[in-house]
Amino acid sequence: MSARILDGKLTAGEVRAEVARAAAQLARPPGLGTILVGDDPGSAVYVRNKHKACAEAGFHSVDRRLPGTASQADVLAAIADLNADDSVDAFLVQLPLPAGLDERTALEAVDPGKDGDGLHPVNLGRLVLGEPSVKPCTPKGIVVLGERFGIAWSGAHVCVVGRGTTVGRPLGLLLTLKGVDATVTMCHSRTPDLASECRRADVIVVATGRAGLLSADMVRPGAAVFDVGISRTEAGIAGDVGPDVADVAGWIAPVPGGVGPMTIAMLLQNTLELSRRNQAGGTPRS
Ligand code: NAP
Repeated sequence: MSARILDGKLTAGEVRAEVARAAAQLARPPGLGTILVGDDPGSAVYVRNKHKACAEAGFHSVDRRLPGTASQADVLAAIADLNADDSVDAFLVQLPLPAGLDERTALEAVDPGKDGDGLHPVNLGRLVLGEPSVKPCTPKGIVVLGERFGIAWSGAHVCVVGRGTTVGRPLGLLLTLKGVDATVTMCHSRTPDLASECRRADVIVVATGRAGLLSADMVRPGAAVFDVGISRTEAGIAGDVGPDVADVAGWIAPVPGGVGPMTIAMLLQNTLELSRRNQAGGTPRS
């Protein structure tokens, strides 16, 4: 293996420490809420990690749990509660919701001014317009991780594989914002020649959930590779990047320990920014 590691665990630790220092300067701690419906073990782990991160950063946190039998009206009522709770600056509904509940309706019921994940249509729309907005956590985490290791986004040709609404598509928007200035090729399952699109890129971000999709022959020597996909296999957690890629790439953000830890760090950063705005009595919530 020759690729240098884009160490998300280390970088997320640094960002979280910076956030904790900034939070300690505020008159009241920033508040983050979560709503977990049902008993999916994976989701429970994600929620627990978010509250642990809040405790370490000195944040106030609110952990709302609803049974798997909860109705859409129950979920909307919990969202309305957190929308109205002044101790909560940002919150999220942990996905996936149990079968029968409509995720889109739930996500759209969150006050866009408390949208910790940055995935509310209002915030995504502002991102399209290049207006100030809460940025989606995983795409923001990828950009920040690259910046901290000196990856030059400006002028880079970035191939994003996957056009999902949580990672690939908003990442394309972030990377092409004025000031970030990457040139992006967005690929998906209908892209005719994925290998040649990837080989032309200085940076490849793979967010498909297809274990081992990216192989060494698809990577230009020295390119930076961000693995985002998460698949649960018999051998454990696998990313979208095959093990041979590390022999060719110049940099690699691995699974685990790359982009994943950055996502929680960005959630804390978004919450801090919203809390600062609220405590300054700034822009009223939309
Ligand atoms: P998604 O909405 O299901 O999108 C997956 C995308 O991959 C789709 O655009 C799909 O193309 C594309 N795709 C599938 N097979 C492909 C192939 N063979 N070649 C090229 N493209 C292919 O998923 P998502 O929510 O964006 O998440 C993507 C992955 O990132 C998942 O594994 C998820 O678990 C992981 N993730 C990780 C983090 C983290 O913090 N590390 C956070 C969020 C998500 P079509 O559009 O044509 O179907």
